[in-house]
Amino acid sequence: MAELICHAELTLPRHGDYMGDIIDRLASFQARPIPAAPGTTRLGYAFGWAEIAADGARVSLRGGAPDPGGLARLKDLMATAFMLYAKADRPRIRWQGDGAGDGRLDSFRLMRVVSATRLGPHMRRLRLGGEGLDRFAAFGNMHVRLLLPSPGNPAPAWPVAGPDGLAHWPDPGRKPLPRVYTIRRMDAAAAWVDIDMLLHDSGGPGASWARDAQPGDTVGMIGPLGRPLNAKARHFIMGADETGMPALARLLETLPPETGGTALVEIATPADRQPIDNRTAIRLEWLLRPPGAAPGAALADRIMAEGWPGHPDSFGWFAAESAPAQRIRQYWRSDLGLGRDRTLAAAYWKQGRAGLMAG
Ligand SMILES: Cc1cc2nc3c(=O)[nH]c(=O)nc-3n(C[C@H](O)[C@H](O)[C@H](O)COP(=O)(O)OP(=O)(O)OC[C@H]3O[C@@H](n4cnc5c(N)ncnc54)[C@H](O)[C@@H]3O)c2cc1C
Repeated sequence: MAELICHAELTLPRHGDYMGDIIDRLASFQARPIPAAPGTTRLGYAFGWAEIAADGARVSLRGGAPDPGGLARLKDLMATAFMLYAKADRPRIRWQGDGAGDGRLDSFRLMRVVSATRLGPHMRRLRLGGEGLDRFAAFGNMHVRLLLPSPGNPAPAWPVAGPDGLAHWPDPGRKPLPRVYTIRRMDAAAAWVDIDMLLHDSGGPGASWARDAQPGDTVGMIGPLGRPLNAKARHFIMGADETGMPALARLLETLPPETGGTALVEIATPADRQPIDNRTAIRLEWLLRPPGAAPGAALADRIMAEGWPGHPDSFGWFAAESAPAQRIRQYWRSDLGLGRDRTLAAAYWKQGRAGLMAG
C-alpha cells in the first residue's frame, strides 16, 4: 500500500513560546529524530513519521504512515500536543489529505462487559470485549478513557472524529462521562481487556458503574493514553495506592526479568492485597494505610525515606492521590534535580474533585 499522508496549515504567531514543549512531548512517545531542513523537526515512530515546519507565523504539520491506524495516531498525537500547549494562539487544526473528513474515530471502541470478578473488598475486575483491540497494545501506553453511562444518560451518544482528528460529540446533551483507567491485562487476539476498578465510597460515575456493571452492559473506550516509560530503565523505585496498583502490577508482569528495585503499594486493609505475578527482580512490599491518615501520605514518606537508588539506569514511578504525587514530584524533580526521562509522579485522583485527568 502507498504511504498515507496528512497535512494541516496553522497560523500561530506565538509558537516560539511553546514549540519546544510541543516537540518534547511528541519526542517522548518513543520517537527518533530524523534529519530535516533548518526550521523543520521530523520525528520517526514505529507507526509513521511527523514533521513540523515553521516559517514566520505559519506552521505546517505533516504526517505519513503505512496504514490508516498509524495515520490516525499521528493526527491524534500532533493535535493533542497543539491543543495542550498552543492555547494562547487558539489553534484550529483541519487535517487535509488521506483520511480527511472520515468521521470514524479510530481511537474509539464500543465495549461490552464479558464478566465481572470481585478482587477484594474494594476492587472489581471488569472484562470488556470489543473488536479491533490491536491499537491498545501497539503504542506502548497502558491507559484508556472509559466513556460511562449515568442514570440521567443511560444510552450515551458516542464520539466521532472532528476535522482535527480528535473526539467530537455529535449530541452534547448525551455525552458520556469520561474517567481514566488502566488496562490491567489484555489479549487483542481474544478481543478482551481487563480493567480493575476501585469501589471507593465518594460517589462518581466510575465507581458506581464498576459496582453495578453486569455482563452485556456497554461502555465506550478511547485510547490508548499515557506515555511509554523510558525503555532503558533497569531499576525502579515505585509507589502506588489502589488506583495506581493496576498499572504497577502490569509493569511488574511485563518489565524485563532482570529489572530490579523496590515497589511499594498502599492499601486500606490486608484483604485488599492482590496476587501479582511479579516476573521481575523488583521487591514488592504492601503498606497498610494507617487509620485516619491522608491517602498516600505514608506511602510518600516511605518513598522519600528509601532515597534515590544508586543504579545508573534508575527510574522513579509514582501514582496516587494528588497531594502525595505532588510531594514526590517536587522531591524527585526539584530537590533531586531528576528529569522527566527518569521520573513519573502522577496524580491519579484528587480528594474532593471529580474526574481528575478525565477531560
Ligand atoms: C492514568 C490514570 C490511570 C488510572 N487507573 C485507574 C485504575 O486502573 N483503576 C482505578 O480504580 N482508578 C484508576 N485511576 C483513578 C480514577 O480515574 C479516579 O479515581 C477517578 O476519579 C474515578 O472516577 P469516579 O467517577 O469513581 O469518581 P469522580 O467522579 O472522579 O470523583 C467523585 C468523588 O470521588 C472521589 N474519588 C475519586 N477517586 C477516589 C479514590 N480512589 N478514593 C477515594 N475517593 C475518590 C473524588 O475526590 C470526588 O470527591 C486512574 C487515573 C489515572 C489518571
